Amino acid sequence: MRIDGKAIAAEVVHEIKSLVHALPGRKPGLAFVLVGADPASEIYVRAKKKACTETGMHSVLVQLPSTIAESDVLAQIQKLNLDPSIDGILVQLPLPPHINPQIVTASVDPRKDVDGFHPINVGKMLLGDETAFVPCTPHGIVVLLQKSNTVVEGKHVVILGRSNIVGKPLAALLMQKKPGCNATVTVCHSKSDHLVQLTKTADVLVAAMGNPKLVKASMVKPGAVVIDVGINRVDGKVVGDVDFDEVEKVASKITPVPGGVGPMTIAMLLKNTWLSYQRKHA
Ligand code: NDP
Repeated sequence: MRIDGKAIAAEVVHEIKSLVHALPGRKPGLAFVLVGADPASEIYVRAKKKACTETGMHSVLVQLPSTIAESDVLAQIQKLNLDPSIDGILVQLPLPPHINPQIVTASVDPRKDVDGFHPINVGKMLLGDETAFVPCTPHGIVVLLQKSNTVVEGKHVVILGRSNIVGKPLAALLMQKKPGCNATVTVCHSKSDHLVQLTKTADVLVAAMGNPKLVKASMVKPGAVVIDVGINRVDGKVVGDVDFDEVEKVASKITPVPGGVGPMTIAMLLKNTWLSYQRKHA
């Protein structure tokens, strides 16, 4: 069975849209900071901004040249930190090589850090503190699993990839001691030995490597749930990290690419922006 991320994300977005429309006064505001002209980043920011506008939220795009000094990027972020009409700030990664992403990420006011990348939010998330902003992609995956009635409690989840934006936070979320989580998590990476032996023991297999169609049917336990995070462009086509056509035959549930995790990432960004707005007005 395919898990329809597009439909599940649409439900979440619809809910947020109703909440935004019911607001009598100021609408939630989300600012996008885009440095340089990376074509993939431009596509992602455009899609996120469009979704934001569709919910009735206010959105701002701060587009900066690739040659900009790091101090000028920090100054722009500081302006947004102080702007009362802005509830969320998203700095689109990657940044040009002369700009340190850790410094930039840490310069965002943690109360407006709707990407959940600020060290304070990362720490809170690890501690299971409910006031954390949770990074959008792993949060979207958790919601996708819950809404598709996939129970992870007590199950073995194997995550392929240990990045700070997907693999690591997803592992932290799924192992939390709370309903809807409580999974036993194994995180694999490019140095992992015996990868296939590990993936074959997964009840839920999450592929987040950026490696087109690397996951084959022979790597998947029959009946497993497979979540494909990968977005790869091959011959002008977007494909995931999972060889969908063959893995679909052995998996009990599987997310397609596109139309799986991607829309959930955007939905969770809107959800975090709504959350930030609500906290300000609580
Ligand atoms: P990174 O490049 O930051 O991390 C990739 C991870 O995969 C690393 O930990 C790497 O190991 C591991 N890896 C790479 N090759 C292998 C392999 N052959 N076997 C085992 N592990 C491997 O990528 P991201 O986490 O940022 O993104 C991963 C994918 O997800 C990309 O395709 C990206 O486009 C997509 N993505 C999709 C999103 C969505 O909304 N759908 C959002 C974010 C990302 P090591 O650490 O050893 O290098």
